Amino acid sequence: MTSALPTAVLPTLPVVGSELRFPVRRVFCVGRNYAEHAREMGHDPDREPPFFFGKDAAALTTAARIPYPPATAELHHEVELVVALGEGGMNVAAAQARERIFGYAVGVDLTRRDLQAEAKRLGRPWYLAKSFLGAAPIGPVHPASAIGHPRAGAIRLSIGDTLRQSGDLAQMIWSIEEIIAILSTLDRLLPGDLIFTGTPAGVGPIHPGDHLIAAIADLDRLEVTIGRAEPLTT
Ligand code: MN
Repeated sequence: MTSALPTAVLPTLPVVGSELRFPVRRVFCVGRNYAEHAREMGHDPDREPPFFFGKDAAALTTAARIPYPPATAELHHEVELVVALGEGGMNVAAAQARERIFGYAVGVDLTRRDLQAEAKRLGRPWYLAKSFLGAAPIGPVHPASAIGHPRAGAIRLSIGDTLRQSGDLAQMIWSIEEIIAILSTLDRLLPGDLIFTGTPAGVGPIHPGDHLIAAIADLDRLEVTIGRAEPLTT
């Protein structure tokens, strides 16, 4: 078989302490999983069932510098603990969810908040507010075999010297095990799937030239500089 175009390859992420790479399949994201963030977005953080959206795997980036994306005047940061699944499954019981987890990474769910607000107002999909090239900066995957399963610890994002988001993993409304269990009732989870598990309060705008530092518990910090708006290349 000869391909009509160069075949696109799904991204792989470095694995801490290993030469292996983690092959990404899909990218799921959980909305409003920290109460204070739900409040700042104008919602009651009652324990309503979690809801999910997604990003293209092509939106992931490990680049140290990414351009300010097009078509927005309000790019927001959301620091999130990312779960990397080593095994999938359908209807996974919460008690069996942990054994499906390969590891954890620090991620930032970059959001074109102005596009999202318009989509919410008009009852339209969030897709292009959440998924665009560069929309998901992510650090290396820390294997659970090395770091265990972080369920408490600081989750923070700073821009330069200014702390913008600060919370604790223990503040998640839905635990990671519950999220895997619920998501696996909606679709069969696959090895390589990532889950962004929500963001604490303090989301806010990013400007060209900003230097983002995302830190979660004992995981490697993720640092990203936002460049000028420029044409995206493949
Ligand atoms: Mn998010």
